[in-house]
Amino acid sequence: MRTGKIIDIHCRCGFKLFRYFKAGKGRLLKCLISRLTDDYVGLNGAETFSKPSCPQCGEELGIIMMIHGEPALKLNQGTIQSIRI
Ligand SMILES: [Zn+2]
Repeated sequence: MRTGKIIDIHCRCGFKLFRYFKAGKGRLLKCLISRLTDDYVGLNGAETFSKPSCPQCGEELGIIMMIHGEPALKLNQGTIQSIRI
């Protein structure tokens, strides 16, 4: 069985960006778009290599990349509040 939990991801400015199903433990470095449970930024459908930004402060959140054939957001660690589970 797959273990994991749903976590809220916030920008440094405090804006709630999305909710994500995180599998396993450790630092969150990238997010598969298909595992977002709520998307307040519009990551769903974003183009590969686009750089979504925080709707509130305009900071870049990272870059959309294909990982194992699936779109994912590689997080900009400077913008996202760090999460450890
Ligand atoms: Zn922000």
